[in-house]
Amino acid sequence: MAWDFETDPEFQKKLDWVEEFMREEVEPLSHLGMAAHGPLGRQKFIKPLQEKVKAQGLWACHLGPELGGQGYGQLKLALLNEKLGRNGLAPSVFGCQAPDTGNAEIIAHYGTEEQKEKWLKPLLNGDIRSAFSMSEPTGGSDPLTFKTRAVLEGKEWVINGEKWFSTNARYSKLLVVYAVTDPDAKDPYKRTSIFLVPTDTPGVEIIRNVAVGGGGEIGGGTEGYVRYNNVRVPYDALLGERGGAFVIAQVRLGGGRIHHAMRTIGSCRHALDLMCKRAVSRTTRDGKLADLQLVQQDIADSWIELESFRLLVLRTAWLIDKHKDYNKVRKDIAAVKVAMPKVYHNIATRAAHLHGALGVSNEMPFMHMVTSSLVMGIADGPTEVHKVTVAKQILKDYRPDNDLFPAYHIPRLREEARERFKDQLAELKAAYEAEGGRGGARATETA
Ligand SMILES: Cc1cc2nc3c(=O)[nH]c(=O)nc-3n(C[C@H](O)[C@H](O)[C@H](O)COP(=O)(O)OP(=O)(O)OC[C@H]3O[C@@H](n4cnc5c(N)ncnc54)[C@H](O)[C@@H]3O)c2cc1C
Repeated sequence: MAWDFETDPEFQKKLDWVEEFMREEVEPLSHLGMAAHGPLGRQKFIKPLQEKVKAQGLWACHLGPELGGQGYGQLKLALLNEKLGRNGLAPSVFGCQAPDTGNAEIIAHYGTEEQKEKWLKPLLNGDIRSAFSMSEPTGGSDPLTFKTRAVLEGKEWVINGEKWFSTNARYSKLLVVYAVTDPDAKDPYKRTSIFLVPTDTPGVEIIRNVAVGGGGEIGGGTEGYVRYNNVRVPYDALLGERGGAFVIAQVRLGGGRIHHAMRTIGSCRHALDLMCKRAVSRTTRDGKLADLQLVQQDIADSWIELESFRLLVLRTAWLIDKHKDYNKVRKDIAAVKVAMPKVYHNIATRAAHLHGALGVSNEMPFMHMVTSSLVMGIADGPTEVHKVTVAKQILKDYRPDNDLFPAYHIPRLREEARERFKDQLAELKAAYEAEGGRGGARATETA
């Protein structure tokens, strides 16, 4: 009997350390805002915390030991990530921040020794940052609509095109660029390739840094709108096989989606926690908010949604560890991706609402959470696309019924049952008749 919801005591000790470290060191730092994010701020504030995480053996836990990670697997990573998820700075402190995690993962999987030496090592050390430059302003993240081209001229690739929402491009040293190399390939999924492009390559132009959410300076965000103007890179800037971008990106996105979900559990729990604190603290003329049944309903619904989502995420993490192949867990990852924005949105909105005016102000984290929940429904592909994946994966195990009435039509099932149990029914009928019971015939006919 292998179902077990206990965390092993050794790992629990690590989680307890993380809990305290988050409370005492990471969370206070996050209130410094951008001061801790710029290159100098990171050196001053984040580096020392990263050293403490490394000393605890908790650095880059999404990776195997051969890559400088801990090899804990996805289930333990989920338990860790749900703690980190309650604070936006935490992933950087623990060496598991998107998009660097996914970029490091694909370089580890598909990179040559030279590419690993040049990019993977500094990424894993947290010395450089990277961006994933895939989505385009014209066609979102659907590779079949991409217009950015990479053309081979002699021994160089020449890249031209525009990319949209390349997160952290402005802070990155490396751009992982998705471009069309083989527009005439018969298989449309073999038309694109991935390139490792140093951000300071001539021709790389950041048109604007778009920000998520309302307010703020136009151009003051972290989502790079990037133009590639005749960007020349050597042939070996190609990652993996020519035409292999689609497969590579799936490896990257599969992991990225489940890691977002793990952290979203932490964000939801934080919102619920604040909601409960408010409920037991704030009084109205009818008593505490916590005493009002409609408030209790919101708290109960939030807890149930969160715990159900958490079980789905943990089970999916467990499946990834079991199969060691994201493709075999596609349906589950897509289901997690669909559930995530909804649960997050519901809980964050209820938490904001329960705090009244304070809740919708910029003096509380809830508006940021609500925006983030919307982002979760868009980034890495919109909810609709993932719902289709779930449905298709479920449906592929079903075969059509070609009869007029389905195989599960009750009259048909009844007929089959009567045929199968005809001897027993005859015995039953005889027994009733021997007793002289009136209902014998009926009891055996209408079973
Ligand atoms: C905060 C953030 C960070 C991001 N970071 C990155 C990054 O680092 N690198 C990168 O390359 N991209 C990144 N993206 C881009 C992201 O992958 C795309 O925004 C996403 O794939 C959707 O593309 P789109 O924005 O063009 O929306 P569209 O494709 O225009 O979709 C808009 C809406 O249309 C509907 N829709 C679209 N397709 C379908 C469909 N097949 N069926 C039904 N309805 C559909 C949905 O309602 C969808 O929300 C990021 C996005 C956000 C918000």
